[in-house]
Amino acid sequence: IGWFARIPRAERDAIFGLVEDFQKDTSKPKVNLGIGVFRTDEDKPYILKCVQKAEEKILKKRMDKEYSPVAGFEIFKKLSMDFTFGKSSVFNKPGRHVTFQGLSGCGGLSIAAQFLRMFYPGRKMVYISDPTWPNHQNLFNKLGLKTDTYRYYDAENISLDFDGMMEDIHKMPYRSIILFHASAHNPTGFDPTEEQWKEITEEVKKRKLYVIMDNAYQGFASGDLNKDAQSFRIMAKRRVNMVLVTSYAKNFGLYGERVGATSFLVDSKHEADKILSQLILLIRANHSNPPLHGARIVEEVFTDPCLTKLWIEELKIMANRLKSARKQLLQKLKETGSSRNWDFITKQIGMFSYTGLTKEQIIRLQKEFHIYMLTSGRLAIPGITSKNVEYVAKCIHKVTS
Ligand code: PLP
Repeated sequence: IGWFARIPRAERDAIFGLVEDFQKDTSKPKVNLGIGVFRTDEDKPYILKCVQKAEEKILKKRMDKEYSPVAGFEIFKKLSMDFTFGKSSVFNKPGRHVTFQGLSGCGGLSIAAQFLRMFYPGRKMVYISDPTWPNHQNLFNKLGLKTDTYRYYDAENISLDFDGMMEDIHKMPYRSIILFHASAHNPTGFDPTEEQWKEITEEVKKRKLYVIMDNAYQGFASGDLNKDAQSFRIMAKRRVNMVLVTSYAKNFGLYGERVGATSFLVDSKHEADKILSQLILLIRANHSNPPLHGARIVEEVFTDPCLTKLWIEELKIMANRLKSARKQLLQKLKETGSSRNWDFITKQIGMFSYTGLTKEQIIRLQKEFHIYMLTSGRLAIPGITSKNVEYVAKCIHKVTS
């Protein structure tokens, strides 16, 4: 088996590699601002109460553990369409969408990517924003799709580079593929406004682009389920060709359960049947059948009005906790006397703040102060708590002054 030794060593995953380093670090204090998972102000994982109640109900039902259908249960798929596109969407009826239960966001993206690689008749190039979530490039490239980037972020003004983005979309060859973050852009935290999404939609239509909509934060970003869905609902209204990949990791706190729903929008039942037949073969070759438990929880929360109400309240609690952590961090940075303008922190939304800190500054934060962030400058807001915010602000000030 000597050939194993000749395999080149791959680079570590930027995010999970950093988690390992953090866990090994025995210093105190230490702060993890690396990974995008929600934490309470006590720096603890949060199990949503609606999820706990749903689990109790499921346990009482003593349900079997047989395989779920390859593409997931019909009820789960229908509820996911109600949640994403809305009950009244023209696409939310038989023959207008093909939905399957994916393994959270990554699993949905992966099946969609394999499907596009096999069948997409246009240009098999996926345009991703610069910057984007580090796994996008890895995922598409590993699955045989090339990637290129479009401008998204204005580093000088720490804002969305809308003009740059529109110029780049305008130049994309016809029938290419483009990926958007539906809300809470990772890592920048800057989303286009409703008006800007409308402009983007028109340009996407002109270029006849196929859209992959990565919907990892619906409800979690702003605390409002509909606001966070505006990007893809605007596009669906204008009949943009798209696949929507929804993850229930963040908005239900079901990270490790791997539950999500992916929907291709289609024109007819004839198309829907063909696509589904191919997706079923692909899913069989990948994970065969999606996991039961997480999907049952989501189904229970969506169908029990009391649990739905509780969930919506908890989404607001999570979104507000992140907003408040942003405010506190901004306040404490101002108190350090820093001459920099940090106002962008409260203008961004979602899990992350893209700070503009340099790689050298971030390495110093880690080595000297045991504060862990991605070297791209992405700071995970849930890691900020009332207890550590002052320490973090002071250390950031030290490395930036
Ligand atoms: N897409 C984006 C932009 C993300 O930030 C994430 C998670 O961090 C995902 C997709 C998918 O995550 P998961 O596979 O855990 O649902």
